[in-house]
Amino acid sequence: MIRDAVVNQIISKARAIGRLTLLETEAKEICIQLGIPVPEFALARTEKEATEFASKLGYPVVLKIVSCDVSHKSEAGGVLVGLQDHKSVEKGYKQIIANTLAYKSEAKISGIMVQHMAPAGTELIIGATKDAQFGHALMFGIGGTAVELMKDVAFRVTPIDHASAADMIREIKTYPLLKGYRNSPRIDEGAIESILVRLSELLTKFPEIVEVDMNPTIGYVNGASVVDTRIVLEGKRNLVPSKTVIQDSSSEAIRLFFEPKSVAVVGASKDPDKMGHIITRHLIEAGFKGSIFPVNPKAEDLLGLRTFRSVSDIPNQIDLVIVVVPAPFVADLLRECVRKNVRSVIVISGGFREIGKEGEERENVMKEILQTSGMRLVGPNVQGIDNPYVGLSMWMLIKKQGPIGIISQGGSVGGTIEDWAEKENIGISKFFPLGNAIDVNETDVLSFYGDDSQTKVIAMNLEGVRNGCEFMRVARKVSMKKPILLLKGGKTHAGQKAAISHTKSIAGSDAIFRAACRQSGVMIVDTMEELYDASKALAFLPTPKGRGVLIITSSGGVGILAADAAEERGLNLPQPSNEALKQLSEILQPQCVLSNPFDLTTEAMKTRTYQQVIEKNACDPNIHAFLPIFADPIHDAAEAIISSTKITDKPIIVCYSGGAQFEEVEKVKMQSAGIPVFPTPERAVAALHALVKRHEFNATRRG
Ligand code: ADP
Ligand code: MG
Repeated sequence: MIRDAVVNQIISKARAIGRLTLLETEAKEICIQLGIPVPEFALARTEKEATEFASKLGYPVVLKIVSCDVSHKSEAGGVLVGLQDHKSVEKGYKQIIANTLAYKSEAKISGIMVQHMAPAGTELIIGATKDAQFGHALMFGIGGTAVELMKDVAFRVTPIDHASAADMIREIKTYPLLKGYRNSPRIDEGAIESILVRLSELLTKFPEIVEVDMNPTIGYVNGASVVDTRIVLEGKRNLVPSKTVIQDSSSEAIRLFFEPKSVAVVGASKDPDKMGHIITRHLIEAGFKGSIFPVNPKAEDLLGLRTFRSVSDIPNQIDLVIVVVPAPFVADLLRECVRKNVRSVIVISGGFREIGKEGEERENVMKEILQTSGMRLVGPNVQGIDNPYVGLSMWMLIKKQGPIGIISQGGSVGGTIEDWAEKENIGISKFFPLGNAIDVNETDVLSFYGDDSQTKVIAMNLEGVRNGCEFMRVARKVSMKKPILLLKGGKTHAGQKAAISHTKSIAGSDAIFRAACRQSGVMIVDTMEELYDASKALAFLPTPKGRGVLIITSSGGVGILAADAAEERGLNLPQPSNEALKQLSEILQPQCVLSNPFDLTTEAMKTRTYQQVIEKNACDPNIHAFLPIFADPIHDAAEAIISSTKITDKPIIVCYSGGAQFEEVEKVKMQSAGIPVFPTPERAVAALHALVKRHEFNATRRG
C-alpha cells in the first residue's frame, strides 16, 4: 500500500499547514500513484533548471506557475504552451513570474512546472464534488462550450465500476462526438473509464477530498492524458449526514400509520368546513374498518360518534392520533399521547418550520419528545394518509383500491395523482405525505411500500431527501422488486457559487440527486401527467421485450403525432411482415393504409379490425407492443381490446381521444378490466416508453 501512503503524506502535509488546495505538482503526483496518465513534468526553480528539464522531456513543452496563491493559472498569465526551444523557455520562465506577481503581488511561488506538451486531442472535463446528502459524485463532459453553455455533463455518485463509468460517458448528449463524428476520430473510452474508476477509488479512500477538476483531460484514439489536476481538501471533517431523529424504522412501526385499528381525531369540530370535521366524515364515508374517536372538549357527539374531551379520556388503546389543533397546542398534546402510550401521530396542522424561527423551535420541542419516547410522527404540515384497503381516508375522500403507492413531499402533487386515480377508477394502494418530515421520512415509507403486496408501483414527488446514502440503499433494493417513479421538484437549483473547482460550480444538488436516483433504479419523469401515466402503465401492463411498436389508428393525423412522439423517445416503428400485410389486405377495405402507423380509416368503426391487425402481427418478432388509437367516436372499442389481450402477451397501450359520447363509456369498461387508457398519443407513447425502460432495467439486472 505504498500508493496510499504517498497520497496520505501529500494530503497530510498540505493540511498541516492549512493549505486546502493542492499544488498542481502534488495533484499530479497523486495521479501518478493512482495510475492516471499525466504528461511528464518537473518542477524548475531557476531558468537553467527549466531549460535542462525541457531538453530532457523533449520539445515542445508547457510552462505553468506553481503557487499556493494561484488556483486558476491561466487567469494569472501563468500558463505558456507550445514552447519550442531553450530561448522561449528562458523568456517564458521570466514572463510567467512577472505575470503572476502582477496578478497577485504577494503570491508565494514554489517554482515553474515544465510539462511535456500533450498533443492535440479531444478536450474533456472530469471532476468530482462532495454533496452533503450523497457524498462524492463524479462528473464527466466534453470540455469547452458543451459544458459551459449547455451543462452537458453526466454525474454519478461514487463508488462506480467500469460499467457505470461507461454508462456515464454515453449519457452526455454530445457523446456522438466521442464515437467519431465526421472528421473527429473516435476516442478511447476505456482509457476515460479507467480514470473515472481510479478517481472514484481515490475518493473512497480519501473522503477529505471535496473537489477535483481534471480540466482538461485530453482524449485520444489510444489513451488519454490529464494535463491539469486541481484537488481541494475540506477544512474540517464533514459530519456523516444523520437522520433527524434516530427511531425504530421497522416496517411494523410504519404499518401502524397505514393500518391502525383505532384512530383519534384531535380537533374534530361540528363546523363542516373545519379539517377535523372533514377528516372524521371521510373516515366514516370511506368505511374505516377500525374505531374512530373524535376529540373535542366542547362537543358531545359528532356525525353520530361519541366525542371525547381529551385523548386521555378515551378508554381504549389508540393506534393513530390525527392532530389538527393549532401549532401552539401540539407539543402538549404529544406529551399527552406519550402518557397514553400512543405509538403513532400524524400532525396535519401547519405553523412550523415553514413559518420561520418560531415554528422551527416548535419542531425542536417535538423532536425532543419523540426522541425520548420513541413515538413516531408524520408531518407536521401535511395532508392526510390514505389507505383504501382499510377505509383510511383523511384529506380527500379516497375509496378506490388500486396498485399505486404514492409518496408526496407537499400534499398537492401526490394528491392530484390520487384524485385522478380515484376518478378514473384506477385507484391507489396508499398515499403518504411528507410535509416537514421531522421523523418518518421518504426512505421509511419507500422501504415499507417495497414489501407491501398491494403496492405494484411507487409514484414519488420529492424535492430532496434527508439521508442520501440510506435512500439510495433502500431504492436499489426496492427497485429490483417494483418500479419507482420520481417527479422531482426544484430542478433549477443552481450550482454552488463558492467553488474553487469548475465541477462544483456546475454540480447543483439537483444534478447529483438525479444521478443518485438513476443509479438506484429510480425512473425520473418530468411532469405530473407522466408520473400518473407511467404508474398506470407499469401497474397494469406487461413490459415489452424491445422498442418496436405498431401504431394502429382510426385517424392519420393522430397516428402521425404518435409516430413523432415514438421516434423522439427512441422507439421504432417496424413495418408489418409481408405475410401479415397480405392477409390483412384480403380482409380490409382498400382505403386502409397498410403500414406503420397502420391507418384503418373508416374501417376503424368496425372495431374488430383493431383485433385483426393485432392478431396478424402478434407473432412478429420485431413488434414488441401495440398502440391502438381510437381517435373518433367509436363504440365497442373496449370489446375489441379486451379480446385482443387474450390473443397476445405483448402490451397493448390504448389511446382514446375525440371519442365524444363513447369515450367515457369505453374508457370505464377498459380500465375496469385492468387496461389503462391514455387521452393523447403523446401520453400513450410516454407510458409505453416507461414500460420499455423498465424492461431494459430488468434486462441489465439479469445480464
Ligand atoms: P488552469 O486551468 O489553471 O488555467 P491549465 O493547466 O488547465 O491551467 O492550462 C491551461 C490550458 O493550457 C489547458 O486548458 C490546456 O488547453 C493547455 N495545457 C496545459 N497543460 C498542457 C499540456 N501539458 N499539454 C497540452 N496543453 C496543455
Ligand atoms: Mg485547467
